[in-house]
Formats: sequence, C-alpha cells, structure tokens
Amino acid sequence: MLGILKQYVFSGVSRHYKDETNRRIMVVNLFAAVGMSITFILGCRAFFAAEYSLSTTLFTASVVFAISQRLQVRVATPRARTASITLLILCLMVLTLLLLITGGKDNTGPLWIYLVPPVTMFFAGFIRGLLSLISFTMVSAVIMFGFDEAILVAQYTYAFKTRLLYSFMTVSFLSAFYEYSRQKSYDTALYLSEQFERQAKHDHLTQLLNRRGAQQCLEREYARVVRNKSKFSIAIADIDRFKSINDTLGHEQGDEVLVQISKVFTSRLRKQDIIARWGGEEFMFIFNDTDEAGAVQALEQIRKTLNQAPLNINGREFHVTSSFGVSEVTPGIDISYAIRCADKALYYAKDNGRDQVCSISSISPSPLSEQRTSF
Ligand code: GH3
Ligand code: MG
Ligand code: MG
Repeated sequence: MLGILKQYVFSGVSRHYKDETNRRIMVVNLFAAVGMSITFILGCRAFFAAEYSLSTTLFTASVVFAISQRLQVRVATPRARTASITLLILCLMVLTLLLLITGGKDNTGPLWIYLVPPVTMFFAGFIRGLLSLISFTMVSAVIMFGFDEAILVAQYTYAFKTRLLYSFMTVSFLSAFYEYSRQKSYDTALYLSEQFERQAKHDHLTQLLNRRGAQQCLEREYARVVRNKSKFSIAIADIDRFKSINDTLGHEQGDEVLVQISKVFTSRLRKQDIIARWGGEEFMFIFNDTDEAGAVQALEQIRKTLNQAPLNINGREFHVTSSFGVSEVTPGIDISYAIRCADKALYYAKDNGRDQVCSISSISPSPLSEQRTSF
C-alpha cells in the first residue's frame, strides 16, 4: 500500500528535471489525489441525498483534479504543466467561492478559503500567485458586499464577512511573503551552486576551462565518438622557453603573458572547438569531428598568429612561440592513450627546434605500435 502511494507521489518525477520542478510535480500529485478523493466522496454523498446540482459540481471538480494530475505527469511539457497548475488553482478557487456563496454545511463553507493563499502561491509562484490572489480577493469581496448581496445564498453577519476578508488578506500577505523569501533563497542557492560549479571547472587566471573541465569535455566527446563511430583530435600546446620569459619579466608579468596567449589561441578557434589550460603553461585543444590532418591545419594557423603577433606587456613588445603535439581519438583509442601520444608528439616538436606543430602519425617509426603495450 505504502509502495503504491510512493509510486503515485513520485510519478512524473525525473532526475533530468530541476529539484524545484520535481518538488512541484510531487505536490501536484498529492494535492490532486486529495482534491479528487474529497470531491468524489462528497459528490457521492450529495448524489445520494438527491442534491444533484451539488453532486454534479463536485464530480466535475474531481474530474478536473484528475485531468490536471494527468497533464502534469503524462504530457509533461512546460505548457501542460502550466495548464495543469492553472486548472488546479481555478478548480480550488471556484469550489471555495461556491462554498462561500452557499455556506456549505451549517455555514462552515467559508473556512476552506484559507486553503487558497498557500496553494496558489506554491503552485503559481510569487508574481502569478499574487495576481491570482488579488483577483480572487476582489471576486470574494464583490460576492459578499456587492450587488446588494444578491449572489449570496447563505446568510452571514457583516462582522463575519469583514473579519473573513481581513483574515484572508492577512493569510494571503503572509503566504506571498513566504513564497517571495523562499524563491529568493532558492535563487541565491542556485546562483551559488552554479558559481561553485563554474569555479571548479575554470582556471581563474585565463578564465579558460581547467584540467578538470577539459577532462569532462574529453569524456563527453569520447562518448559521442563511440556512439557515432566518428573521430576527434586533441592537441597539447606548451609555450616555448617560458622559464626565460618569467626570468626576464617576473612571475606576475609571466601570468599576463599567459592571459594574452590564451586570448590569441581562443580568437583563432572555431566555435565548436574547445581550449583549456591543461596546467602551468600548457594548453589542451579539443577539435570536435576533426581528423588529425584537420587539427594540424588549424593549429598551424594558431601557431603562425602567435609567432607573428607580438604580445604587448607593459608597453613592451614580446614575441612568444609555442609547440604543439597532436593526436587523433577514435572509438578504438582511449583518451589517456591519445593524451600520451599528443604529449609524445609535443616533445618531438620541442626536440626538433620548437615553434612547430607535430602530429603523432608524422613521427617515425610509429610510436602507436611501440607504446600501446607499454601503457
Ligand atoms: P620549453 O620550451 O622546453 O617548454 O621550455 P620552458 O622554459 O617553457 O620549460 P618548462 O615547460 O619546463 O617550464 C615551464 C615554466 O613555466 C616553469 C614555471 O615556472 C612556469 N610556469 C608554470 N605555471 C606558471 C604560471 O601559472 N605563471 C607563470 N608566470 N609561470 C608559470
Ligand atoms: Mg611545460
Ligand atoms: Mg614550456
């Protein structure tokens, strides 16, 4: 029994949705179930008491609660969710107004009015909730005080009606305030967690992805390559003689050189390509859907741009060069192996005079067959 209830409450919940959406789905499930059962039971009672118009109203409400729950869980589009919530709120408001008009059992009907503010605020959020509650308050006031009370079937004293309206407005205000604070805290928590996540994946000096961020991109790209049986290429860049740049300019200006280099690299990349600070003065390039030859071609352009455009550090011009090692990733080659190949190609470029792009397949004899066994 408990299992069925749990399954019902959690129906429509998905780990792909935000926490806030899942929470709302669960409460809609619960609220629709309670609303559906109560209106159905009361509808049956009214039917057997031959109060046919009341029973029709209650059965209709029961069906509306069921439809709104199905919309939320089965259709599950943003539009269906809004429709579901609007139906729930409208259904509750109409039922409450009917109870206010008819008085319900021994004039206790108006007591249900206090359900409206928290439910409306929770489902509709602060702005839409506030507008709905203002409209509802105006309609209730007109029913109780307007048209010479012609709409009211039940008899209430003037004091009761004014107290009902004031207390309803107080509960509405408190519910609105609570929802506003809740949304603010939620937004702050969301903003902070996004900031932390960004910081964890980015390098604070260059604002590029850091090693961890790059590794996540590599894994994601590799999964795509395996799925599509395609390929991509990676490259590791190491700035040439960076130690002497630090020695000449100092560590702080060395940092500025790294920032400017990262801008040069980024400016020459295609939108779909990724660059990260792999560590120290090393950068990782990920060329999506690109074979080794394509990556070498792109990196040649980047290398030339860096070589030809002097960096401006404190008003002084500096020429900086970089060496690049390139390797291809296919479904049969795992990422760590490809990284080692790119590293090997990079050191080959360094050994051959620096300021050049070297791919793993251009190294002879092929290190792929040599190294596969040693990794
Ligand atoms: P090579 O051409 O062989 O790469 O020569 P290199 O001088 O660049 O040699 P190596 O790669 O071994 O040295 C890298 C230097 O980069 C050493 C380190 O002090 C410096 N470095 C690493 N990270 C940073 C950083 O964040 N800021 C600064 N300013 N320097 C860094
Ligand atoms: Mg280095
Ligand atoms: Mg270096």
